[in-house]
Amino acid sequence: MFSVKVVDCHYEGKPELAASYIISTPVTTAIVETGTAVNTDIILAALDEAGIQKDAVSLIAVTHVHLDHAGAAGALARQLPNAKVLCHPHGTRHLADPTALIKGATAVHGEERMRLFYGTTLPVPKEQLVATENGHCYPLGPSVSLQVHHSPGHAPHHQFLSLHAPLPGGDTPVCVGVFTGDGFAASYSFMRRPESARCPWPNVPAGRPTASLMVHAIPPQFDPVAWHGSLDLLAGLQPHLIFFTHYGPAPFTHEMIQAAHRMVRTHVFRCPIAFILLRARAQDDYVALVAAPSAAELPSIASLTTEVTALVRAQQQIAATVPDDFSDRLQVDANLCAHGITMWRQKQLSPPKKQ
Ligand SMILES: [Zn+2]
Repeated sequence: MFSVKVVDCHYEGKPELAASYIISTPVTTAIVETGTAVNTDIILAALDEAGIQKDAVSLIAVTHVHLDHAGAAGALARQLPNAKVLCHPHGTRHLADPTALIKGATAVHGEERMRLFYGTTLPVPKEQLVATENGHCYPLGPSVSLQVHHSPGHAPHHQFLSLHAPLPGGDTPVCVGVFTGDGFAASYSFMRRPESARCPWPNVPAGRPTASLMVHAIPPQFDPVAWHGSLDLLAGLQPHLIFFTHYGPAPFTHEMIQAAHRMVRTHVFRCPIAFILLRARAQDDYVALVAAPSAAELPSIASLTTEVTALVRAQQQIAATVPDDFSDRLQVDANLCAHGITMWRQKQLSPPKKQ
């Protein structure tokens, strides 16, 4: 027996933006994703409500170190002394000393939003911090385990975490679901179909099927080549569910993987400057940041214009159906994607550094 509980972190003070998950078995409890430092009490209250003692938590696993995923790891580790904090080896130094994370996030969000929504990010005590090995399985109970899959793309230090357990009445573990962090996409509640899905496991919520996705092509480290590879890895796990951090569980389908592949291919490879132009509409000085693409990159001005127009229309259609408090969020996400793709394009266009 095991259960998965979705905890709404109320990221940025809003419901259903960022989730944390609590996996419980008769043997132990694991937390996947922590939200920001200001979300610490919400997770502790959820443990309390579920009747889970603090010393029963043995793992706090984060998909990556960005503060909406790992900001509360240090504060939680101090409250949950038996818990090891699992992080990709390229990210552990940032959890041990979050100075660079805080600086980077402050540059993006500004000091006022940092104070309100990110709080005081504490370092994870070194004795609790564990650098994960790719493929390693952490047992959580009889035939229940959490496996690590290094999945670069959104950031080089990103990892997927897959939950494995037998189907009810069975013996052989299957992949219940994958915690995909920002390595796949966001699917907020207004991007779902209306009817809830069924789940074979009685204590695991299946959520509602996805109708659309938004990928996280976030600066400064987005690498679409690695990202496509990580999506293929995800599809190969054949999960029943995706546990989205942004937001909540949804049934897995191969169509959603193909849709995400298409989205990034279109935006990054086929029309690399479409996002840049979208961003430029909102902020004129952004153009100055963009390296001029070479003529060889653009099949023709006419086809580029067609693609940009289609992209703008698609964005407007999404925006028309978005609840008020989420339209800002989508704008933030789209702008961050523009930044991430631009930075990657600039790296491609820069001459290679001399050795
Ligand atoms: Zn992230």
